[in-house]
Amino acid sequence: MSALHLDGPAAERLARDLLGWQQPRPEAPTGLAAELRDRLEAGCAALGEGLDRAAQAGRGGAVWVTKTSLARLACDGWQRDPRPYEHTRANVRGVLAHAAVERDWRDGRRASASRVVEQVWVEEATRRPGDPASLSRWLNDCGDEDAEVLRGEVAELLEAFREVWPALPADRVVAHLERPVTLRLAGGRVVLRGVPDLVLDSPRRDDRARTLVVDLKTGLPRPEPDRAELRFYALLVTLRDGRPPFRWATYHVPEGRMEAEDLRVVTLERTVARVLDGIGQAVRLATHPDDTGLLIRGGAWCRSCLREPDCPEAAAARARYEAGMHDRGT
Ligand code: SF4
Repeated sequence: MSALHLDGPAAERLARDLLGWQQPRPEAPTGLAAELRDRLEAGCAALGEGLDRAAQAGRGGAVWVTKTSLARLACDGWQRDPRPYEHTRANVRGVLAHAAVERDWRDGRRASASRVVEQVWVEEATRRPGDPASLSRWLNDCGDEDAEVLRGEVAELLEAFREVWPALPADRVVAHLERPVTLRLAGGRVVLRGVPDLVLDSPRRDDRARTLVVDLKTGLPRPEPDRAELRFYALLVTLRDGRPPFRWATYHVPEGRMEAEDLRVVTLERTVARVLDGIGQAVRLATHPDDTGLLIRGGAWCRSCLREPDCPEAAAARARYEAGMHDRGT
């Protein structure tokens, strides 16, 4: 079996605290995945005909539950009228950094970080150049100087990742990068889908949990949404594999910092409840086309909602926030 070479204390910390090398794995509770799936199926069945209506209104005749739809559980108005996704410098940087890490991992770190980023840039810039809303167009419209600075920043992120993450020997760990997980419930009327950045599987020798799920972040930390997203991925992997991961973690690339949760049944059960809330929200929206009976709640998320300029709940949330700032003397 290949040896693992660790360069420095940060890499050693990562191998110990995140990868869990040399540490015993927890036992995977027998029947847990089946039990979680049963709860989801029972929750869907309880929605009755409302689920049919929601599925008919959904893409491809199904309710889709994703990290994005779950984030919008905060307010039905936001779910109904989200602001369309826009390519901003910050999120383009994140997309390129993810793509660079993925390519670098697959290529075995053979090229320099800046070369990897150049390759990724060309790949993305030529993918859909004719589509005015595409990342390709954004990259092609970027001035030479800005493009150079942005590529430099992404190369720095890749260097930072390489510095801390050891190159993992393929005979000890199987890495799945950006591999979508799609699961169907309720006879196909509900689809759960997510794309974990990185899933690491160690060879199975017994009934212990041996999978690690990692979400890579390159922007500002958002503790609650990041955690919710990651738990959703952990649930998807549990349902797909028939056994839970031993750990799931957010890894903040710029700071080389990780936030990890070890396997806890209650966390996965709460995530099932959250998924059912998401499906329930889809039913509510499908059965209340005129907005009556919707749950409207203002908060920081209002900036991502198209209704924000005229929404009284958004104004009230803003006022509460400003009053709170005032109370703290800021
Ligand atoms: S502006 Fe805020 S409170 Fe109003 S509908 Fe949108 S998310 Fe909900």
